[in-house]
Amino acid sequence: MKKLIFATGNEGKMKEIRMILGDLDYEILSMKEAGIDVDIVEDGKTFEENAIIKATEISKLAGCVVLADDSGLEVDAMDKMPGIYSARYLGEDTPYSVKNQTIIDNLAGLPDEKRTARFVCVIAAAFPDGRVVTKRGTIEGIIGHEEKGENGFGYDPIFFVPEYGKTTAELSPEEKNRISHRGKALEMIKAEL
Ligand code: IMP
Repeated sequence: MKKLIFATGNEGKMKEIRMILGDLDYEILSMKEAGIDVDIVEDGKTFEENAIIKATEISKLAGCVVLADDSGLEVDAMDKMPGIYSARYLGEDTPYSVKNQTIIDNLAGLPDEKRTARFVCVIAAAFPDGRVVTKRGTIEGIIGHEEKGENGFGYDPIFFVPEYGKTTAELSPEEKNRISHRGKALEMIKAEL
């Protein structure tokens, strides 16, 4: 069976990826399972650039198909920040309770129509012949006035999805996967494999 590596150290992401890509004719491996241990500098200026950097560097080392993702939260009233800096926003080790409250404070007094935001996920697929494809998935929402929900991670407790009347931290993992930026990007990249 052909090998496919997903360039992440995140077990949660691996689970989701195996769920969505499981019926393909590929053996799906994490970096650890593939025995690859490299630290790649993500110095791109866009989600696409960062995903391509990760996927191509690892594909060169591994010689098989490599998928890599880059994701984040864009808040329109904050000039689309934290964007590609979402993990590093206010410092890598700062708790999300602080990051989330800072965003809520930044938007103080703004009505819902000015609280628009989206999660973005770009997945790049790098093939051994040097070909690279990227796909972008998004989910639109509104920044809430307080944290709500215990599921998910990161900015989920302040990301309110109007169609569901819930934050992504209040959705079950299955519900979130079905509508999320990452779920959508994975489905699109699947069509390329
Ligand atoms: P990375 O793509 O794993 O580097 O993630 C980037 C950062 O974006 C994460 O550390 C979170 O801060 C944020 N992020 C990406 N996707 C989500 C999500 O589904 N929920 C909450 N935060 C997210």
